[in-house]
Amino acid sequence: MNTIDKFKKLLLRQQKEVEKEIEDLEKDDPINSLSMAESSEPGTDSWVADTHSRVLAVKSNLQMLLVRIRKSLQNLNSGKFGKCENCGKLIEDERLKAIPTATLCIVCSKKVKK
Ligand SMILES: [Zn+2]
Repeated sequence: MNTIDKFKKLLLRQQKEVEKEIEDLEKDDPINSLSMAESSEPGTDSWVADTHSRVLAVKSNLQMLLVRIRKSLQNLNSGKFGKCENCGKLIEDERLKAIPTATLCIVCSKKVKK
């Protein structure tokens, strides 16, 4: 198996996992089950609001990750995968293995962080 296939498999698996996580999160979101459990207990509203905003925060992180995964998959198909967006050099293999969605090489990612 060549490297492209390996990363494609890895990314597709990751994509599936993240999609599942988002699905599970939506099930946990109390906003979605409000109609079933109508409660007038004091304090419930703020619990619902708290939990809902927590779910939203986690979900937006996951969605951002999903966007990165999809972009990496696109790059794989167009042959751009593994190239640093900043300097155009090949991203280190070890780095891609750890973070398949990386779009910057180690040197550039350190520059960006600063
Ligand atoms: Zn670079």
